[in-house]
Amino acid sequence: MITGIALQDKDDSHERHNTVWKSALASAVRDPQHLLKLLDLDEKKYLDQVSLSEQFKVLVPLSYVAKMKKGDWHDPLLRQVLPLKAEGIKAFGFLSDPVGDLNAEVSSGVLQKYHGRVLLITTGACAVHCRYCFRRHFPYVNSVPDKVQWQQTLAGIKSDETITEVILSGGDPLMLSDVRLRAMCQDLADIPHVTTLRFHTRVPLFLAERLTPHFIQWLSELTIKIVMVMHANHANELDNEFEISMTKLLRIGVTLLNQSVLLKNINDDADKLVLLSQRLFECGILPYYLHQLDKVQGAAHFEVSNDKVKRLQQQLRERLPGYLVPRFVREVSGKRYKQPLE
Ligand SMILES: *Cc1c(COP(=O)(O)O)cnc(C)c1O
Ligand code: SF4
Repeated sequence: MITGIALQDKDDSHERHNTVWKSALASAVRDPQHLLKLLDLDEKKYLDQVSLSEQFKVLVPLSYVAKMKKGDWHDPLLRQVLPLKAEGIKAFGFLSDPVGDLNAEVSSGVLQKYHGRVLLITTGACAVHCRYCFRRHFPYVNSVPDKVQWQQTLAGIKSDETITEVILSGGDPLMLSDVRLRAMCQDLADIPHVTTLRFHTRVPLFLAERLTPHFIQWLSELTIKIVMVMHANHANELDNEFEISMTKLLRIGVTLLNQSVLLKNINDDADKLVLLSQRLFECGILPYYLHQLDKVQGAAHFEVSNDKVKRLQQQLRERLPGYLVPRFVREVSGKRYKQPLE
């Protein structure tokens, strides 16, 4: 389970660079009623559809709330973060570990499913809790590396020369303090056969301030290829401030990609997906994957039918240049790569 915010990161609680975004996180919304109020949504009208007793708690930074439309119950950003009673539906085939992550865990917090790449759970914390998250039931507490485990992880990567890319995931790796993150990145960059470091993150979508000058500086000093995969699902997430923060990454040579999840009533619409791809491109980002929802317990109400997915794929191909059409994929437990949806 995701454990909340790593504010207690003691390494650098005194560190000036991290105070702005950490205080933005501290003021995040943690209560669905508060969220409704901020959006001028009438509690009496909507509260009976909202789930109040959730184990995967509401967590929404105010800057994400600011991108939502007031008074709009169907707002596509609100729908990604508001727990609905529909999450309680026990749907057939929806599991707590739908993508077989626990089987792929080669040691604590280290997932190896695919050739040449290893994925590290760097922290259990996220800056937002997405209701469709396939890791919502993942036992993170046991997977966040302490110093000893980190040395073991490094030793494992060093001893396997087939690993050329290390993926920092979580949770969200940008929730770590600069001190921790920089040390991790440096350790990995020092391994000769590791040529690429990849971040998967949602943080810049609502905490653009996380990409501080200090962060950009040390990142630019790493002598390793850096890829950042954003997880945006809707063009409304990509505002001006986000675009500016991406420029900073582009300037230091970071490759920017995006992966989205197809979500019913949020982005399962050709116009919305076209707009998302175009907006990503304006921000210097290429669409990478569009995932069919992982069948995680509590997310059945987000599922888009396979027929509809096929139609959407066809429409995107007809309307966009090839480089703006994301690869439609599904994660299938035990397969050697993410499965194309055809
Ligand atoms: C998705 C994933 C990757 C990365 O796969 P790519 O196809 O290279 O993006 C690597 N490891 C794990 C465990 C994954 O789930
Ligand atoms: S989808 Fe990503 S950012 Fe959202 S809760 Fe899951 S791991 Fe965190």
